[in-house]
Amino acid sequence: MFKLYNTLTRAKDEFAPIAAPAVGLYTCGPTVYNFAHIGNLRTYVFEDVLRRALARFGFKVKHVMNITDVGHLTSDADTGEDKMELGARREGKTAWDIARFYTEAFTADCRRLNVLAPDVVCKATDHIPEMIALVRRLEEKGVTYRLADGIYFDTSKFPAYGAMARLDIDGLEAGARVEMVEGKRNPTDFALWKFSPKDKQRQMEWDAPWGRGFPGWHIECSAMSMKHLGEQIDIHCGAVDHIAVHHTNEIAQSEAATGKSPWVRWWVHGEFLVLDKGKMAKSGGGFITLDAVIKKGFDPLAYRYFLLQAHYRSQLMFSWEGLEAAANGYRNLRETVLGLKEQLPVASSQLPVGKPATDNCQLTTGNYGERFDDAVADDLNMPRALGTLWEALKDGGLSAAAKLALVAHAEPVLGLGLDRVEAEKPAEVPADVAELAERRAAARKSKDFAAADVLRKELAAKGYEVEDRPGGKWLVKRK
Ligand code: AMP
Ligand code: ZN
Repeated sequence: MFKLYNTLTRAKDEFAPIAAPAVGLYTCGPTVYNFAHIGNLRTYVFEDVLRRALARFGFKVKHVMNITDVGHLTSDADTGEDKMELGARREGKTAWDIARFYTEAFTADCRRLNVLAPDVVCKATDHIPEMIALVRRLEEKGVTYRLADGIYFDTSKFPAYGAMARLDIDGLEAGARVEMVEGKRNPTDFALWKFSPKDKQRQMEWDAPWGRGFPGWHIECSAMSMKHLGEQIDIHCGAVDHIAVHHTNEIAQSEAATGKSPWVRWWVHGEFLVLDKGKMAKSGGGFITLDAVIKKGFDPLAYRYFLLQAHYRSQLMFSWEGLEAAANGYRNLRETVLGLKEQLPVASSQLPVGKPATDNCQLTTGNYGERFDDAVADDLNMPRALGTLWEALKDGGLSAAAKLALVAHAEPVLGLGLDRVEAEKPAEVPADVAELAERRAAARKSKDFAAADVLRKELAAKGYEVEDRPGGKWLVKRK
């Protein structure tokens, strides 16, 4: 039984999709005006684990993710500048170039974190006709109105507005949650279509029945999810910051347009990664990218390991010390797997990659395989799942073959690259460090120990130490 916390019910409910085993999964994607920070990436890793868990429990997932390349304003209140145009101005490029560049950077980050590519990645700018059609549908239902700067959704016409977020609408009326756009009927009303400013040429704008302009941010997720997954879907994800506004507005416009409720059966939200100094925000100055993590010598999968050590619904505090500790844990895990493989004859040391070991796992791994799955099925309790894996790896009564069978069973859910633990060289050593280590090994081989020592010191100056292994092999480690 797979239990998954649902923000709609505020409970861990047994997961059951509309048409099992098919599962429609929609995850809100990045706004591509800057690099993703490691907080954003926490959300994509949690969604990846969810997708992998669904596959483990026999579901056939269709995963759709959008790319927000237009319309996300710098404020939630339908005021402020379009983030894409802001990025373009900052970098002296076109908004289209900015979108392309940061979409590629994001895709590369996901690849390095072993985040599986969605089945459909859809750009907002490729779905303008679908968004216009959806706004027209809302217009026909009489839930929209026109202001000087755009077409708005009248939230008072949708009685269930704010139910998922449990918003106190009356409280909002009294105090203002948001700065008001002039003429808005209710503080919670939001833009469906914004008109281009009269005094300025926008880079991204389209003709629409109401006037030239661009879509409001929320409408893209409703339009694209309906196009690619149908009018009702099983799971929709994002981080907790989306509950009160973005997802609340998505629900209102989707259910008002189709008359079908619930539009989404499971709302699954991940908690934030925070810094000791507070929130990590893309628009504020200092944020940490995955590149910065790699430049400090960390394997990106050590960051994934760091994330898996916390439950996705708990806030996680990032610190370099915490990451260092996780990197040590991850290195230990890889070395343990490698050590186990070295104990087995070559042919049997290959991990059966991706093989769902559920059936025969019990035979070879005691009840560890089952316990691992139970932890995953308990609302993705990955800290417990990792704990179970470690317990098994340290169990003196379990054979090397049984331990490796468990690793093979766990890897398709963990995505930690444990199926690729082959070389004695860690995967993400910078090229210059690897070269120094190669030269040192060559110097040792030709018995030029003085040169080898100089190279060892050069490695140390870069923060690495080198360990010799049998057969002239070596292992470089961060100090
Ligand atoms: P954005 O590209 O700004 O639209 O954000 C991409 C995703 O990252 C969204 O699902 C956000 O909710 C999520 N997000 C933003 N900040 C954080 C954070 N500090 N920790 C975890 N997720 C975040
Ligand atoms: Zn969205």
